[in-house]
Amino acid sequence: MKGETRRCSFCGRTAKEVNLLITGLNGLICDDCAREAYKVVTANSKSSQCQKLDNLPTPREIKDYLDQYVIGQDDAKIAMSVAVYNHYKRLNYEADRDDKNDVEIEKSNIIMVGSTGTGKTLLARTIAKMLLVPFTIVDATVLTEAGYVGEDVESILSRLLQECNYDAKVAERGIVFIDEIDKIARKSDNPSITRDVSGEGVQQGLLKLLEGSVINVPPYGGRKHPEQEFIHVNTKNILFICGGAFDGIESRIAQRLNTHVVGFDSIENSAKIDKSNLMQYIAPMDLKAFGLIPEIIGRMPILTHLEPLDRPALRSILTEPKNSIIKQYTRLFELDGTKLKFNDNVLDYIVDKAIEFKLGARGLRSIVETIMMEKMFDSPSSKPKSLTITLDYAKKKIEQSASKIANTQ
Ligand code: ADP
Repeated sequence: MKGETRRCSFCGRTAKEVNLLITGLNGLICDDCAREAYKVVTANSKSSQCQKLDNLPTPREIKDYLDQYVIGQDDAKIAMSVAVYNHYKRLNYEADRDDKNDVEIEKSNIIMVGSTGTGKTLLARTIAKMLLVPFTIVDATVLTEAGYVGEDVESILSRLLQECNYDAKVAERGIVFIDEIDKIARKSDNPSITRDVSGEGVQQGLLKLLEGSVINVPPYGGRKHPEQEFIHVNTKNILFICGGAFDGIESRIAQRLNTHVVGFDSIENSAKIDKSNLMQYIAPMDLKAFGLIPEIIGRMPILTHLEPLDRPALRSILTEPKNSIIKQYTRLFELDGTKLKFNDNVLDYIVDKAIEFKLGARGLRSIVETIMMEKMFDSPSSKPKSLTITLDYAKKKIEQSASKIANTQ
């Protein structure tokens, strides 16, 4: 190279025209080209990262994991584990699929129906901790038709994009949990109702997402502005899991079961219906009667339910999950050097109160909180070695503030 002008072997610019020229064995590279090369390399390794998912947990392993945190709800857990596993398999299959192999495996979105406080969101949050793909939870209550106050349906995808640094390719393999889907049900059975801001229009928007299409997402959420550049997200491979309480749907199920029994079945079958848990008989037509449009229902082929939580379930929720409320309080006191113990009859009492106040699992925490407040105030200064909560003490504390608990929920 003696006598010759030193040039970048990639862009041809001379040493004078660049900041830095790095010398290799048979060539040179300038700082700009090195930076470009770095971008190409990282982009490639990122896309190869999202090509193949290795060491997939089996549906059984996914359910075992959920079992550590969520009590009961086997139906919903199994549906969710299978859906997530199949989602991974589909992604891998799509990555490998060549033109010769024309079998396209379609996704199966899920809808979970269960009263509030039975663990729908908990299931979603728990599964999120072990997922290999981006995941987000959105609330359908904030969605309105474009042009109204509230969020457009596209905002669901902005959240997912946020989870993966706005990389659309990665977002396109994600999972979205849409909570409170029942809140966008049509308010009236009459489809021609004039302004149904949170009803059919939103469902139509959501339908586009569920069935798989390319959606223009404003990059940083918020309203669409003409000057913003859109990110194009194809929702074909995004798995949607929806959850809702569908308050009052039991009466529709009962109605259907009754007419069904009279129409086609024997009286004998009607005796087998478990009236205390009608949710287990839920069928797509009940969702339609509730006000979801048939197209939406059709796009969520897996319909699963959550059981109401009975006394034994509530009792287990207090102590058994990996981060159960009692375990959390015990750790909290342990951090101050106090060994905390609840007598067994206190735990039964907490469950009784949760049932009495009709608070379900959500109430357990506020009841324990009420019982423990004074101790939490005192213990850090008095630092007792051990502390046992007795039934008398718990009763006294709850009776002092029973009205407060009932009103806070
Ligand atoms: P939903 O979404 O069905 O309204 P959540 O999942 O938000 O109910 O439940 C509220 C709280 O109640 C959870 O944070 C959890 O502490 C408790 N909980 C509800 N169901 C269960 C369950 N099956 N197992 C363990 N905890 C539960």
